[in-house]
Amino acid sequence: MGRHSIPIGRIFGIAIGLDYSWFVIFAAITWMLGAFYYPADFKDWPTALYWLTAVATAILVFASILLHELGHSVVAMRYGVPVRSITLYLFGGVSQIDAEPPSAIAEFFVAIAGPLVSLFIAIAFYAVRPLVSSVEPLSGLAGYLIYINLGVALFNLIPGYPLDGGRVFRAIVWSITGDMRRATQVAANVGRFFALAMIFGGVWEMFEGNPGGGLWLAFIGWFLDIAATAQLHQLTYQGLLTGHKVAQAMTTDTDTIPEDLTIQSLVDEHIFRSGRRSFLVERQGAPVGLMTLQQIRDVPRSEWSTTRLAQAMLPLEQSISVTADSELWAALQKMDRKGVNQLPVTRGDGVVGMLTREDIITFLATLQELGIGRHGDGSRPS
Ligand SMILES: [Zn+2]
Repeated sequence: MGRHSIPIGRIFGIAIGLDYSWFVIFAAITWMLGAFYYPADFKDWPTALYWLTAVATAILVFASILLHELGHSVVAMRYGVPVRSITLYLFGGVSQIDAEPPSAIAEFFVAIAGPLVSLFIAIAFYAVRPLVSSVEPLSGLAGYLIYINLGVALFNLIPGYPLDGGRVFRAIVWSITGDMRRATQVAANVGRFFALAMIFGGVWEMFEGNPGGGLWLAFIGWFLDIAATAQLHQLTYQGLLTGHKVAQAMTTDTDTIPEDLTIQSLVDEHIFRSGRRSFLVERQGAPVGLMTLQQIRDVPRSEWSTTRLAQAMLPLEQSISVTADSELWAALQKMDRKGVNQLPVTRGDGVVGMLTREDIITFLATLQELGIGRHGDGSRPS
């Protein structure tokens, strides 16, 4: 998400961004309000007033969604869970929360906070509306914001993961069973049920003569199904990897390459020949840096034959690493969070190997071929 978003500032230390797809939905909402919704309710406004009110309403809609996300984020931070960013995009907002909530109670309050904020905004506009009833644009705007915030609150309370209601549901199952994995599995399957129901409902609507609304409903259902399915896949991986250590999957025969090699020779003699994509760089026999395709791309092609690895490498003290006896699952999550494809593996003061995504996939394939952990039997209490 971060790659396609435009930063617009920070609130409580959380980076707020707009995804490119946000502009599409912003334009669509403004158009719908300015061309249809307001003209239908208020017949005698000047044209410019329809559009002015439409733009103001669309901005407040997104402010409402931002507040909804801030609701989740502030509660998450109160429970000590770091929140990196909030991005507004096509379907609303998404908070980049760095870890799973520490307990079922925390999960419950983090999840319910968003819909409660939306509900509160709806009530606030409901209370204000009579005060501005003589000013038609303000009254119309308040009416729409009551409707949209109520809608956001109710939609998000559908008990299918990954919607907020699904998280609330997961928290409840989690607290009853004491098993977060099991709870996630139940909530994600219920999420898939609601997603498929939305797709069917959307297609039905399309045939019933509401193609726009039907398509939108089906689209949201499809998106939710992808998210719920991804969650189930992740559970499978977690089940397979839990209980296994980095040392079991890492590559140890990382033939280190000397720091005075040029990038050109690295590409010609090592990358093309071995197919490997990440290397440890050594100085007098000791690893000092990391060389990946990323570091190579950072150097202009014309300078490859003159640039030494010592100049281009990522020094080891700056790179994120993982210890050999860390959980493999934790290492994979670390890669995802940091957006990297490999981690140098350390033991004590020394680098003892390298863990790449390919290593993890190979390890999983080997486990499956050996018939180990096929049913995600790493279901230790967590
Ligand atoms: Zn939410």
